[in-house]
Formats: sequence, structure tokens, C-alpha cells
Amino acid sequence: MTFLDYAPAPESTSIVDIKPSYGLFIGGKFVDASGDTFATISPSTEEHITTVGEANAADVDKAVQAARVAFDKTWSKLSGSERGKYLFRIARIIQERSRELAIAETIDNGKPIRETRDVDLPLVAAWFFYYAGWADKLEYAGLGPKPQALGVAAQIVPWNFPLLMLAWKIAPALAAGNTVVLKPAETTPLTALLFAEICQQAGLPDGVVNIITGAGATGAALVAHPGINKVAFTGSTPVGRSIAASLAGTDVRATLELGGKGANIVFDDAAIDQAIEGIVSGIFFNQGHVCCAGSRLLVQENIHDDVLHRLQRRLTTLRLGDPLDKNTDIGAVNSKAQLERISALVDAGEAEGATRWSSECVLPEKGFWFQPTVFTNVHTSHRVAQEEIFGPVLSVMTFRTPDEAIAKANNTPYGLSAGIWTEKASRMLAMANSLRAGVIWANTFNKFDPSSPFGGYQESGYGREGGRHGLAAYLAADDQKAGGR
Ligand code: NAP
Ligand code: MG
Repeated sequence: MTFLDYAPAPESTSIVDIKPSYGLFIGGKFVDASGDTFATISPSTEEHITTVGEANAADVDKAVQAARVAFDKTWSKLSGSERGKYLFRIARIIQERSRELAIAETIDNGKPIRETRDVDLPLVAAWFFYYAGWADKLEYAGLGPKPQALGVAAQIVPWNFPLLMLAWKIAPALAAGNTVVLKPAETTPLTALLFAEICQQAGLPDGVVNIITGAGATGAALVAHPGINKVAFTGSTPVGRSIAASLAGTDVRATLELGGKGANIVFDDAAIDQAIEGIVSGIFFNQGHVCCAGSRLLVQENIHDDVLHRLQRRLTTLRLGDPLDKNTDIGAVNSKAQLERISALVDAGEAEGATRWSSECVLPEKGFWFQPTVFTNVHTSHRVAQEEIFGPVLSVMTFRTPDEAIAKANNTPYGLSAGIWTEKASRMLAMANSLRAGVIWANTFNKFDPSSPFGGYQESGYGREGGRHGLAAYLAADDQKAGGR
């Protein structure tokens, strides 16, 4: 099959004002880090974007103190409706600046502009609007008549949805009356620093939001700081485990949103073409850098060949390349390290005997890229069936009966998401009751809404973000004193 070539349709970057360097955002001001600086690069071109500060333990201490002062002197003294006004203002500024933020995210992260513009940014604004609405209604959240803020929240976010994960963390924390110190991922600090500018623009009181850039050591110093009351972490299971260990025996509350190996289950009565679109968005959205990705396809045996054929045909139409081009479906892998991790697991899949198929697309010479890849003949014991690849790689297995589908879907140490494709509502509900996953989609996949709680079972972590449940992570009932070390 041949396709018409599309003319390039690159989004202009002229609207984004990226400074040559950024300090740490502490107490409402940008200040120099006391230690080193490091660069963030574009994963699609390997070009230098900007230089940011690396916060050391002394900087972490300053940020936590600034958050504490802001909590004691200003934020905890404001009424819920006053806090809500700031959050509404931030939400509106995000909408006004959404084109600029979408471009900045695409440059720093490598994901297509189509996604940052149509998914990430609308959701970021929606999260702030949603929690702004809660700020003056906390007594109706089901947590007692006078729920209390916990204090200073330490928040650590990953690189796959940099600004969206920031919104998931900061919006509920502020609505509930906490102040925050947030560390973005080392490879994607840019939009968090632009968000710091938005806090200034919104006139948010100094120290309510503090943004400190750095690598894992900065994150470790933040969660070890004696002045925090709460940790909210999204990232890998090993780091989540080390955070849980470092908090053991303290009263610091924690929510951990970790990895996943979601099963996307297709029954033979499903609308197959719709299911193909759901399989594609389940694992190839954001290059598969999605903790709730549908990375294991479980397809009923009698339709396996048909589904595979249609899926491969669809995958050959995906356009991989410049993420700033509005026609691009698959952007760059976020970092060289992540590309190496994906390649190593794909090599392991081949070595263990699974059959690899990759879409034939030309990879750009610069940057970090991986073709959409599908493994068939996968055994449940293979590493590609067990481990989170966090890349555009799908592992396909078959089942004959619903019980077999459930057994295979639940055969994982994770439990974050699952998908069910069937025309039968009774089967959907019966399956959903038996699948051990925090989020289950039926006849769709990777859909998010701020009113809907999100979180995992087992090694996918604990606690819920989003909805009324997401507030509980930042509030104590009035008879429970807020904890700490
Ligand atoms: P990660 O190391 O867990 O990173 C997540 C965040 O934690 C980053 O801000 C990271 O900083 C920070 N961090 C690292 N070590 C820390 C420590 N000891 N204490 C406190 N914070 C620490 O994840 P990654 O290396 O970026 O990705 C590795 C794997 O994690 C992926 O392949 C994927 O399987 C999984 N992952 C899951 C999610 C998710 O949404 N659940 C997101 C990203 C990755 P640095 O950026 O400087 O490392
Ligand atoms: Mg970067």
C-alpha cells in the first residue's frame, strides 16, 4: 500500500520564551541553586534547550522552610473560597497560555504536539478548574465536618506527563490548604519552571508553591526532610519502594503511583475496528510512556489472526518523526537511557522466543526513536509479558474463555489499569469485578477526567489521585492531628 506524503506542518516555536537558564523557584522568587547546574535537551533533536539548577540538601531545606512559612502565615489563614480564587486564576492562565505550554512540553519531552495540545494541556486546565471548585466545599468531601490540611507536601513527578502530573499533584494539595515543594524529573523540568512563572503571574502568595529542579538525589533529600507532612510520588516501583522504606515509622502520609502492565482484553464479539483504535491509543499514545498503558493485548483465540492483521495495517499508517509537526503520531523516546531500557527488553523478548514485528518507519538520525513494535507468540513467563517496557511495544497473548482472560490479566505484580472490549454489558461488569486493577475501561482506553479517581493495586502503588478521593490524600479529619516525622 502506498500513501500520499504529507507536507511538513510544523508548529512555530516563536510563541515560547525560553530563558537561557533558570534558578530554583523558592519563596515566590527564582534563586540560584547553591550547587551545580545541568542542561535539559530536546529528545527529538538532542539540542540544548536551557540550563537549570540542581538543588542540593541546603536548597531543599530552604524550599521546605519557605513552604512551611507560607503554610503557617498565609495559606492556612485563607478561607477556602479565597484559595479557590487563586486556583481558578491559575486555571485560566493555563488556558490562555496553553499553546505556549504545549509547545514547550513537546520540545522538552519529545511527545507529539497533537497530544500536548489536545490531551495534556486541556487536562491540566481541567484539573485546576475541578479542584478550584472543591476549595470551599471541603466539609462535603466525606472526611468529617472540618477536614484539616496536612501542611507541607513534598511532590515528585516523572517525565512522561510533566505538566499534567504537576497538575495532578499541585491542584488538590492547594485546594485542600497545603503548601508544596515539587521536583520535576531531571529530563523534563521546563514546563514546571514555566508554571512557576504562572504562579507569579497569578499573584499566588510567596512560598505556597516551590519548584526545585534536580535528579534523584534531590528527590531523595526532599522525602528525607524532617519538615514535610506528606509525600506524593509518581514514578518507578523501585524508587516508590525506597520512598516507602524511608518514611516507615514516621507519620508522614504517602501516596505512591507506580508502574503498570495493563491488560487490554478483546473478545470475539467486540467491534473490531474500534478495538484496533483502542489498542493503538492504549500502547502507542505518548510512545507507550504511560504507566496505565495497555501493554499486554489479550485477544480471544478465534479472532487473533484477524486482529493482528488489522492492527499491523493500522500501525503502518502511524507517522513517526518531528514531534512539533501537527501530523506526527509517534514522537521521540524521552531519553537515551529510556531508549536503552526499551531496546534491552525488546532484545530479551526476541531471545526468549517471542516473534517481533516492527512497523517499517524511517527513524530520524538525531534524537531517540523506537518503531511501533508488536510481539506475538508471547508466553506469560516472558519478560515482555511481565516487565513494564514503558515504550511503544505491545505483547500479544490469546485466551479462549473469560476465566482464562481474567487469570492471565491478573498474572502480574502490578494492578493499575485494564481494558475490556465486548458488546455485552453483562460481560463487561463481570470482568470488571474480577480484574485486579485500579482503573478499568470498557470499549475505550486511556481516558482521563479530574472527577475520576486513579491509582493502583499491589506494586502499582497506593492512594488515589483525582476526584473526591484525591482530596483525602491531602486532608486529615479534624480530630486527627496532621502528622510529620
Ligand atoms: P523514577 O526514577 O522513578 O523517576 C520518577 C521521579 O523520581 C523523577 O523525578 C526522579 O528524578 C525521582 N527520583 C529518582 N530517584 C529518586 C529517589 N531515590 N528518591 C526520590 N525521588 C527520586 O523513574 P524513571 O527512571 O524516570 O523511569 C524508570 C521507569 O519508571 C520507567 O521505565 C517506567 O517503568 C517507570 N515510570 C513510571 C511512571 C508512572 O507514571 N508510573 C512514570 C515514569 C517512569 P530523576 O528524573 O532525576 O530521575
Ligand atoms: Mg528534556
